[in-house]
Amino acid sequence: MVPVMTASQDRQAGPASRTLSVADYAAGVRGGDRATLARAITLIESSKPAHRQLAQDLLQELLADTGAAMRIGITGVPGVGKSTLIDQLGMNLVAAGHKIAVLAVDPTSKRTGGSILGDKTRMERLSRDPSAFIRPSPTAGTLGGVARKTRESIVLLEAAGFDVIIVETVGVGQSETTVAEMVDFFLVLLLAGGGDELQGIKKGIIELADMIAINKADGDNVTRAERAAAEYQGALSILTPSSASWSPPVITISGHNNAGLDRLWDEVLAHRQVMSQTGELDSRRQRQAVAWMHEMLSDRLMDALLQNDKVAAALPGIEADVAAGRMLPPRAVDTILRMFGLA
Ligand code: GDP
Repeated sequence: MVPVMTASQDRQAGPASRTLSVADYAAGVRGGDRATLARAITLIESSKPAHRQLAQDLLQELLADTGAAMRIGITGVPGVGKSTLIDQLGMNLVAAGHKIAVLAVDPTSKRTGGSILGDKTRMERLSRDPSAFIRPSPTAGTLGGVARKTRESIVLLEAAGFDVIIVETVGVGQSETTVAEMVDFFLVLLLAGGGDELQGIKKGIIELADMIAINKADGDNVTRAERAAAEYQGALSILTPSSASWSPPVITISGHNNAGLDRLWDEVLAHRQVMSQTGELDSRRQRQAVAWMHEMLSDRLMDALLQNDKVAAALPGIEADVAAGRMLPPRAVDTILRMFGLA
């Protein structure tokens, strides 16, 4: 049996305080016990080798219970209104009977401050709702590390019965591409600027979008937002869409006023239906799973390499030789791989 703990007890306890077995974790997660779920996520976020093994066993055990959720990515610069939108959209969905989980991918996140997305209180109503579960970004230095933990958290959340999983991110480094690679639907939030709308938008982001929403279309801003939407729609029409069966729509919304959010959700559902019918949902997920495997493989190989005693001892000298021009990088790589037994 899984001991029932409150969320605050759980935070104090941490994964190492009392060992749960894989079966305990799995039963708690499947039963929707929030404390065990939170603890399981902490377990997968742990970098200790013993925790990693337990986490892998747990994920494998829960695999059959996953896959049913709608996975939605949302991106936009700080201040675009992500948390206001997710709070409102989440409340709408909860009212319609959904169970919502919100995860963040924020490579800038640190345990003490510095995080753009880490603050739970950003979604005030949703964070208090029993049908919602909000988890701040994992605090791992690299985007790859954060992404791995987020993907694994999705498995846990789906097994716990959450049927809508929102992964939000800010445009730090490659974080948008990373999140687009783990979701079924990628929503890009933009604001109406002054004049030429296409200035300043990151190249490539439009190609990732399954929909663009111009946010804060309220008050004096409605006309400008509609004009911006028309411009973006025009820009999209000259790009080749990533799917022949879906042309990304551009809509205007106000997260704050709960305006346009029904249309937003209708588009998510329409996309789901089309992608399911054409088989593209399955092929997208298959592609993502293989890419996930390759990423993990390189991460783990790199970890193992850097933990190798011989490599660790020689690396500073090799780096110095490369920096000073005494050794070219290809020779350095050969030397390191040979020490590791790979060349
Ligand atoms: P985030 O950084 O992307 O999560 O953005 P927030 O949701 O924290 O919102 C940033 C600011 O924009 C806050 O002051 C919000 O009150 C405001 N805001 C958010 N959504 C809207 C909206 O739909 N309309 C208007 N007018 N303001 C909004």
